[in-house]
Amino acid sequence: MYLYHGYYGSVSFDWTYIALIIAMFVSMIISVRVKTTFNKYAKKASRSGLTAEQAVQRMLNANGVYGVGIQRIGGSLTDNYNPKTNVISLSESVYGKNSVSAIGVACHEAGHALQYAEEYGPAKLRLAIVPVTNFGSRLSMPLLLIGLFLGFMELVWAGILLFSLSTFFQLVTLPVEFDASKRALAAMEGSGILMDDEAKDAKRVLSSAAMTYVAALATSVLMLLRYISIAKRRD
Ligand SMILES: [Zn+2]
Repeated sequence: MYLYHGYYGSVSFDWTYIALIIAMFVSMIISVRVKTTFNKYAKKASRSGLTAEQAVQRMLNANGVYGVGIQRIGGSLTDNYNPKTNVISLSESVYGKNSVSAIGVACHEAGHALQYAEEYGPAKLRLAIVPVTNFGSRLSMPLLLIGLFLGFMELVWAGILLFSLSTFFQLVTLPVEFDASKRALAAMEGSGILMDDEAKDAKRVLSSAAMTYVAALATSVLMLLRYISIAKRRD
């Protein structure tokens, strides 16, 4: 019976370990795919001729949202919306560009601006839990390691609990990201920013980017399960 338990324990340990490696590998493939999909449609100029920031402006105006800043930032795929400053930052391959990819990504960020303007629940929740998530992710690993080292299981479980905050954050991120893309697609098709076939290509760009967040959640869940499995073996 004892041997059987030991065997079972090592099997569950291996399961989370292997699944985690697979998830990390899949995440790498996804991030490569995001770049290749973006680059593919970055070569396709929109027929409306609008640049990414003009498209953002049209989308925001069409939704009655004014006063959102738009700026250019360095890097690639670093585009973001900061709800604290109400500024959309567009990367070098997006700002000033009129490609289907650039417009798609820019309108996605405008989708985030609309979420805050309309007080979309999941976006507000995500913003509200940023401080606790940061606190949790900074403390979880030290607590877990010190707990395992000293054999002090209460510390280990506290570390796992703190880590689960970041898993929860990744979970809340999903509806926020999917909703921003949904708003972007509705605006691009509805406001004449992109034609039907172009919008389909922009959707490919946004869908591949959304997979990044799905992979991040899967990886986080598997890491959580792995920590739990390690803690249970020690308990
Ligand atoms: Zn986003």
